[in-house]
Amino acid sequence: MEADYTIIGAGVVGLAIARELTAAGKNVVLLEKNSKHGMETSSRNTECIHAGVYYQSDTLKAQLCSKGRGMLYQYCLKNNIPHKRTGKLFLAVTEEEVSKLEETQKVAIKNGLSGIEIIKGSALKEIEPEVNAVAGLLSPDSGIVDSHQLMENLLKEGLEKDLVFAPNCPVESAEFKNGKWLLSIGGSNPTTLETNYVINSAGLYAIELASKVFPEHSFPKLSPTKGCYLRSKKKLDLKHIIYPAMIPGVITERVDATPDLAGYIRFGPNSESIENLEDYKIREELIQEMLPAIQRYLPQITKEDLSIDMAGIRPRIYAAGETPVDFYIKWDQENWLNLIGMESPALTSCLAIAEHVKEMISANS
Ligand SMILES: Cc1cc2nc3c(=O)[nH]c(=O)nc-3n(C[C@H](O)[C@H](O)[C@H](O)COP(=O)(O)OP(=O)(O)OC[C@H]3O[C@@H](n4cnc5c(N)ncnc54)[C@H](O)[C@@H]3O)c2cc1C
Repeated sequence: MEADYTIIGAGVVGLAIARELTAAGKNVVLLEKNSKHGMETSSRNTECIHAGVYYQSDTLKAQLCSKGRGMLYQYCLKNNIPHKRTGKLFLAVTEEEVSKLEETQKVAIKNGLSGIEIIKGSALKEIEPEVNAVAGLLSPDSGIVDSHQLMENLLKEGLEKDLVFAPNCPVESAEFKNGKWLLSIGGSNPTTLETNYVINSAGLYAIELASKVFPEHSFPKLSPTKGCYLRSKKKLDLKHIIYPAMIPGVITERVDATPDLAGYIRFGPNSESIENLEDYKIREELIQEMLPAIQRYLPQITKEDLSIDMAGIRPRIYAAGETPVDFYIKWDQENWLNLIGMESPALTSCLAIAEHVKEMISANS
């Protein structure tokens, strides 16, 4: 088998890149180790379209989120993908927490977001009657999207432009020979694939694969954490995504609430260590653990209203073991592009990431 461009990994990022490159007339093969696309992180997340309130402005995360958010809303509208511009409310439950909203507002304005305002008293009750809070910082451009339908559509568009999609094709190793990459594919029908360009978009496994191919190279360290969710069994007319007040840049344990497109609410994700990269189990005690944080702003929610939902694993990377770093999108050797640490907001940013990759390819050829 031969291909000009080979993408490894059919999550939302690999699918968006496949769509972008095939639309530009490139010959593309998309390899996926699972039996279907999007079975890992891309279908295990909050499905929030982030406005990019608090990412540091000089990062790829900030730039691609801001651009990708607009592209995603337009794409959803054009292709009838279920989504909603709900807005996000950062909530201060006490007067002392209002200063955190002011801090967040400053960062959001610095990041170029518009319409970011602090709302109090009856005005807050009017826009979000369900919550207990003294003030809320409104980010009007945040929203929610059906990630499954988004991925279906990206794949459909790729296939219409002659994308070759190969599920059940785990890439095990690669060798650079005579100016081309030779990929060894395992699974029940092992084979090899010769290709000019490789785009490693293997999510949680991208570093493992890159380290096998470039053993001399030092990649960022993967520090995966599990995010578990609860779900409300009763419908609640929550209009916005809710975030408890926070200090931008400081990672603290908090419980967010995100309304889904069916009118139910997803609570979380929390942050837990994992046993392995397939550890999606959720402890029953999580209901009791999250309940007090939920009842702070939604006192009407009882233990009986909550059930265990699902979990996802963040492909977070650390530079020197301390602070999380930016998306890593780099040519690590001629014709081999690694996408590493593609955690949130990579769903929001997927179309902008794809465009960025296309530009990197043009600049490289
Ligand atoms: C708890 C949680 C909440 C999140 N919430 C949000 C949110 O609200 N908004 C937002 O924008 N982002 C959010 N994210 C981030 C978002 O989900 C991810 O950034 C995005 O899904 C990453 O997509 P991906 O395609 O890079 O990875 P993945 O979806 O993991 O896809 C990688 C694919 O590569 C395949 N693969 C791996 N190794 C190989 C191999 N050797 N050969 C072939 N195939 C291989 C895998 O099977 C997988 O299908 C969240 C993430 C988590 C964990």
